[in-house]
Amino acid sequence: MLMIHDTLSRSKVKFTPIDEEHIRIYVCGPTVYDYAHIGNARPAVIFDVLVCLLRQLYSRVTYVRNITDVDDKINARALETGKGISEITASTTKFFHNDMKALGVEKPDVEPRATDHISDMIELIEVLIEKNHAYVVDGHVLFSVTSMKNYGNLSKLDKREIVAGARIDVAPYKSDPSDFVLWKPSTSNVPGWDSPWGRGRPGWHIECSAMSRKHLGEAFDIHGGGQDLIFPHHENEIAQSTCAFGEGMFAKYWMHNGYLMSEGEKMSKSLGNFYTVNELLNEFPGESIRLALLQTHYRQPLDFTKDNILEARRSLDRWYRMVDKIEVTSGPPESVRAALCDDMNTPQALAEIHKFARIGDTESLLAGAQFLGLVKQDPEEWFKWASIGSEECFPTDTAIEALINERSKARQEKNFARSDAIRDELAAQGIILEDGSGGTTWRRG
Ligand SMILES: [Zn+2]
Repeated sequence: MLMIHDTLSRSKVKFTPIDEEHIRIYVCGPTVYDYAHIGNARPAVIFDVLVCLLRQLYSRVTYVRNITDVDDKINARALETGKGISEITASTTKFFHNDMKALGVEKPDVEPRATDHISDMIELIEVLIEKNHAYVVDGHVLFSVTSMKNYGNLSKLDKREIVAGARIDVAPYKSDPSDFVLWKPSTSNVPGWDSPWGRGRPGWHIECSAMSRKHLGEAFDIHGGGQDLIFPHHENEIAQSTCAFGEGMFAKYWMHNGYLMSEGEKMSKSLGNFYTVNELLNEFPGESIRLALLQTHYRQPLDFTKDNILEARRSLDRWYRMVDKIEVTSGPPESVRAALCDDMNTPQALAEIHKFARIGDTESLLAGAQFLGLVKQDPEEWFKWASIGSEECFPTDTAIEALINERSKARQEKNFARSDAIRDELAAQGIILEDGSGGTTWRRG
């Protein structure tokens, strides 16, 4: 039995799928205008674990995670850098995919791009206008918040907070300050598409309502994302989809991961604690970042620090040392699975894995770790991993290999004093050499 915390009911509930034969889940993906930061990586990793668990429990799962490739942040970045929009979105999408791969995040089953779904959005907006939930003013289409009885159900905000939180400038064309944009006009220097309301582009919220409908249907099981998306993004997705498709449609359960702090403070570029995944990957192996993210329960605020990554890396070093030549032949150990079925209790699942390491149950250790997307490399590769610019990882691979070559030469010349000295020098730096029939191999001990 899978228990999950549902944001809508503010409680931990038993997950009962709409269709046992086909589980459907949607998670809001990145807006592709810049490198993903570690706060963006948290939901990607969390929902990767959830989807992996769902695949273990059910025969068929469709996981949709979108790419938002039309957005004013992208337009602003293009203006700022002089680069073309498609150049920015294409390169950022590529960086995102590389980062996710390094963090062991599996690809979603469908990764729809907003710009491929403009006609679906227009169609949905037309339904909302037709049902009197939206109105057209000067090339804008706005959702009428007062037309919906239950607006604010997910965030539990009152009308005053909703208006204050709407943040968007109180534009003269709005009937009510809390109304939000479904479609807006585009000037010739920003992307635009022809629509019944003139050339324009969609608002952010309508993208997810249209893409989830297209790939998962009007009702599906789980909608996920970061807690910062609850209002206004997810509140507005619910408004659009339930007003268009009918009450009770759209996502059955809502799951949100908690905030991420960095080095004890809110992450900001001026504080120097703003980490992109890309730069962290220059310093640390992806699995150690993944483990650092999973050490805190997903609903708790997470204080992400480089010390956490180092600690995670030491745990992984220990595990990798234990599992050499072990093969996993079974699914996750029962205790790991049970912890995850209890609202994705990853700290508990990791405690179980540490326990397997302590008692030397290496097969369970490996099966549990791999289920969480860890210890998936060949141990030899893991120990060869060298960071760029990190003191933790000197000497570099190149330096080690140069010394090994020198040592082989010394041995051929029967200069054993020199070859032993090189071995000792490397050993002092934690590099262990193993001489075999195929030559000398090495690992970081
Ligand atoms: Zn979304």
